[in-house]
Amino acid sequence: MRPEILYPLFRGIENISGVGPRYAKLLTSLYGGGKVVDALFHLPYNIVDRRYSPLIADARTGVVCTVRGKVVEHIAPKTKKQPYKVVIEDQTEQLVLYFFKYYLSTIEKNLPVGEEVVVSGKIELFNGMRQMIHPDYIGRISDFEKIAKVEPIYPLTAGISNKMAEKVAKYALSQIPKMPEWQDENFKKQQNFPDFADALKRLHNPQNIKDIDTNSIYCRRVAYDELLANQLALAISREKIKRQKGKSICGDGKLRKQILQDLGFELTDAQKKALEEIYADQKADFRMLRLLQGDVGSGKTVVALLAMLNTVEAGFQAAIMVPTEILAEQHFETMRKICEKSNICIELLTGRIKGKKREEILQKLKNGTINILIGTHALFVDNVEFHNLALAVIDEQHRFGVQQRLALSAKGYRCDILVMTATPIPRTLVLTSYGDMEYSQIAELPKGRKPVDTRVMPDTKIDEIIAGLQRKLDGGAQGYWVCPLVEESEKSDLAAATARFEMLQKFFGDKVGLVHGKMKDAQKNEIMQEFKSGKLKLLVSTTVIEVGVNVPNATVMVVERAERFGLAQLHQLRGRIKRSSEPGFCVLLYGRPLSQVAQSRLEIMRKTEDGFVIAEEDLKLRGGGEILGVRQSGFESFKVAEMPTHTDLLLTASKDAKLIMRTDNNLHSPRGEALRNLLYLFEKDADLKTYTAG
Ligand code: ADP
Ligand code: MG
Repeated sequence: MRPEILYPLFRGIENISGVGPRYAKLLTSLYGGGKVVDALFHLPYNIVDRRYSPLIADARTGVVCTVRGKVVEHIAPKTKKQPYKVVIEDQTEQLVLYFFKYYLSTIEKNLPVGEEVVVSGKIELFNGMRQMIHPDYIGRISDFEKIAKVEPIYPLTAGISNKMAEKVAKYALSQIPKMPEWQDENFKKQQNFPDFADALKRLHNPQNIKDIDTNSIYCRRVAYDELLANQLALAISREKIKRQKGKSICGDGKLRKQILQDLGFELTDAQKKALEEIYADQKADFRMLRLLQGDVGSGKTVVALLAMLNTVEAGFQAAIMVPTEILAEQHFETMRKICEKSNICIELLTGRIKGKKREEILQKLKNGTINILIGTHALFVDNVEFHNLALAVIDEQHRFGVQQRLALSAKGYRCDILVMTATPIPRTLVLTSYGDMEYSQIAELPKGRKPVDTRVMPDTKIDEIIAGLQRKLDGGAQGYWVCPLVEESEKSDLAAATARFEMLQKFFGDKVGLVHGKMKDAQKNEIMQEFKSGKLKLLVSTTVIEVGVNVPNATVMVVERAERFGLAQLHQLRGRIKRSSEPGFCVLLYGRPLSQVAQSRLEIMRKTEDGFVIAEEDLKLRGGGEILGVRQSGFESFKVAEMPTHTDLLLTASKDAKLIMRTDNNLHSPRGEALRNLLYLFEKDADLKTYTAG
């Protein structure tokens, strides 16, 4: 239960006077939450210093200043197009205030003739007269202190003024209760951290721009709070899983032996090692929670299949969850083919499977006929019941949200969990999304893979490229043509792809197909099938060819406007043409002008195929929030903390969390009790109740 002292921070912002439901709605989307506490963590990114308050005659032009004066005259415009003017003066000079958009009643109320007033804004010289167009602030002389200060500037959204944002923030600050310190006193001293409330007060009332810098002690203090909440919550949910007894799974190896014979290739050493680690977890009687990392094409699917077969041998069910229907169908096909000779039952369940067929599958799942289920995440949110699920594999996980990952536990399946990710994730991201999770790595590609020849070219050379493509396709290869990512809208993405498709049709006739996100799944699948079967030689697609698509014969790729893609995304894409023993050929087309950064990014792609190098470079060049499109992709995103700036804090928080779990895992010590407030403040309390109760 949330501590009572935190209630005021968890009230809806619509209750704040002057906010109301309409603004509350806008603020909620701006903050990413509609509670008072959300305003607390919505921090200013800039300041306007209004402390400069010269006499009118002394005021430097073009800089923000706050001046005092007496209203001497109102000059009403003769026509609607002319501005309304108000003249004020101090002992040195006159200043004309211009209003182009105004309510007469407001001007009359705020600037009555004879009144001493304060205005803040930029003064300009015009025809020898000092003027201020639309003062940012107008107040009575008694408001001087309130106006002549450093004004925090907030990220805003249409319909929300900075004044509104500031006001709500001030209110939020006033609602912070007195709370005992949850940080270790020594560490606090060593870092020179202020108290939580003081840090936030300063961040919302900065005295200079340095105060709101991500490296200021104020920002670092709150960032550390947030990171510790994140790490502690992860540690708690991990403990929770570990406390639950799992099943000890240890199959007899019969199925696996058969499959390994039928595969047609030797497992790589890296695959074998990963499997050993997974088997060991499965055998142990606690629940497995393991991350399997392996670059694109490293062969995670077989590893997952073997782990599932181990489960089946032991008499239990296994499931694999993937982000898209295309992937689900592809896995279904691959696995069924591999398992052809054994008589295990593999089924596919996606949103597309409906009616009788669906009921039949659900029935067979419940009574245990099905051994392995492959499906999209719909699998775990719908009312699907297993007979005895013992292993859930989550593939290409960076596309899943945290919610979907948790849905599994919520359903009460105490099964082992194996999370697989194709993109090499820098350690910091693993930490923030999983905490100190065990992981296996496949750091080696299957033997015989040839490097991809990657070229970077301007898109003016498109004719040359089409000619080259024609030669490759005539020689029996297949290829992808990835269309530009147009940021404004999906519609224009589609238009661009369609136009390119039509143009390419002139060269390749019915050998070229088009897939895009707006297509019905059935249609999409049909085209993918035609591509796989070789009927189509060239596949034009919008944004992303589904992650994980496996068509070994496809060895050529053209990416248009490559500079608009993330590096990790380009790496993923290029991985599609590395699945055969034939060398791949990849052309990254860019549009001009190409920025310096964009150029060096493409250069990295040309120079290396090492996913880790690329991921780290991407992180360096783009910042933590954007790598892998993190924000949309289910990786933890933070309100205050920022990667890689706060990496040092993250690493410390991870250790701190571990130590807390070791010494006070029920959070009953004074610090533990204080830490509960922290978890609630950052809304990381989901597992707290069940955990500390159990
Ligand atoms: P990813 O790790 O990207 O999911 P996949 O599991 O789809 O990669 O494997 C890519 C391709 O490599 C598949 O065609 C698969 O059959 C093949 N493959 C997997 N392991 C090996 C191996 N040890 N030797 C040769 N080919 C392999
Ligand atoms: Mg895969």
